[in-house]
Amino acid sequence: MTSLPSAIADARALLARLGVDPAVLDGGSLAARSPVTGEVMARLREHTAGEAASAIETAHQAYLAWRKVPAPRRGELVRLLGEALRAAKTDLAALVTQEAGKVVSEGLGEVQEMIDICDYATGLSRQLFGLTLATERPSHRMMETWHPLGVVGVISAFNFPVAVWSWNAALALVCGDAVVWKPSEKTPLTALAVQALFEKARAQFGPDAPDGLSTLLIGGRAVGEVLVDHPKVPLVSATGSTAMGRQVGPRLAARFARALLELGGNNAAIVAPSADLDLALRGVAFAAMGTAGQRCTTLRRLFVHDSVYDAFVPRLKAAYPTVPVGDPRASGVLVGPLIDKAAFDAMQEALDQARAAGGEVTGGSRSDVAGPEAFYVAPALVEIDHQADIVRHETFAPILYVMRYTDLADAIAAQNDVAQGLSSSIFTLNVREAEQFVSTEGSDCGIANVNIGPSGAEIGGAFGGEKETGGGREAGSDSWKAYMRRATNTINYGTTLPLAQGVTFDV
Ligand code: NAD
Repeated sequence: MTSLPSAIADARALLARLGVDPAVLDGGSLAARSPVTGEVMARLREHTAGEAASAIETAHQAYLAWRKVPAPRRGELVRLLGEALRAAKTDLAALVTQEAGKVVSEGLGEVQEMIDICDYATGLSRQLFGLTLATERPSHRMMETWHPLGVVGVISAFNFPVAVWSWNAALALVCGDAVVWKPSEKTPLTALAVQALFEKARAQFGPDAPDGLSTLLIGGRAVGEVLVDHPKVPLVSATGSTAMGRQVGPRLAARFARALLELGGNNAAIVAPSADLDLALRGVAFAAMGTAGQRCTTLRRLFVHDSVYDAFVPRLKAAYPTVPVGDPRASGVLVGPLIDKAAFDAMQEALDQARAAGGEVTGGSRSDVAGPEAFYVAPALVEIDHQADIVRHETFAPILYVMRYTDLADAIAAQNDVAQGLSSSIFTLNVREAEQFVSTEGSDCGIANVNIGPSGAEIGGAFGGEKETGGGREAGSDSWKAYMRRATNTINYGTTLPLAQGVTFDV
């Protein structure tokens, strides 16, 4: 195997420029590895459960002060955060590449998404509106008002190491909440950098943004559990596998806390007879191979109509080996590494199961890019005649299962016949098919697209999925409501006391 230029010096220089104290990078038990080279870039100290609990107490105090700051003023802090991110975009994106293995344009895209949500939340800070409702009682007014909720716990996954925090934090902060973030133990360095940028924005903002308004906890599952179980965390937004959601969801329910769960996907696309096949080819290729198949919205199942199968699938198969796999820092590379050995092993195991179920596998082997600790693979395409068990399972790697269909209703039923419900799309120029797909009888996913792939959402829409994807929605539309509590207020400005429903109670 060949070896690549070391990631360590670059990562440390980026961290220094982003404002991270070099003293925190050594001597701890958590190894921060680069999937690009497999090297350990830093060893961080993990927070203890006691430190996590005390950070939550501090955050609660911060919330008590922050909730009194007018929302548009809170928006100013998020605007400053967006400005800090703009200034640091190239460095932070390069660090995302070093730590998560994203190719250059995807690293930049991740930071752009953070900037976009800051812009969005800044505007939103003047639009946290409620309704005035018709009341049945004379001389009364009924309205709803929205109030800050408290401390929002954010638990995030490795594959969007910084954007997921920003989707939650930008909204939570304008909503008047404090934030405590437990990033993935696989990507703690980018989190340290974001925390430093946040503190820079907070210092610029001035003293009415209290200490502990947004805090970072370094560690694994045990630290996350402190957030999940702490009575002063009324909302936990947890992004990760369905297995994680299965543990976190019931624990939150047990203490009646809110859960915003963004879990695994098993996303599908349909290529219909009328599809623009050139456009579909690009849409499918990006959605299936981009980010090395490590997006929650990655395309994993493709249903191709019989009448276009032979025109489309051989072209797609031919495109697979032409996609450059390699050092994500290099220009022109489109597919970087898997996050670690466990991801590589899971991919190989899935391909073995697919073969055993009759699948014909193209690609999928390890690529000779870096040393033994870095895991690069050729994306895999599997032609298979049914949705075998492995097809119904999310393997977090670039594997696309391709199947034929003859009837659209059957294809939609097959698409929906999995436990997950995140994202979906149809490629068609037929308006009836397009409308059927996005109708009540169509896709059952939280995201249903026409003539674009299932991945690459914009922040303006609500993001999330149904069924085992967890039901959460974050980013745009009315997702902000999850970060606030609603009160219904009825005000009597008259001189009598008419009771609702005509009840009489004269004393
Ligand atoms: P993971 O489930 O292994 O870890 C996610 C986070 O949860 C980590 O921070 C981890 O420390 C924490 N965690 C795990 N168990 C916990 C527990 N019991 N209590 C508290 N915290 C716990 O996921 P991953 O491998 O980092 O990410 C890949 C998965 O995330 C995929 O399934 C992917 O589809 C999903 N994902 C979903 C979305 C979405 O928006 N739906 C976005 C990104 C990733």
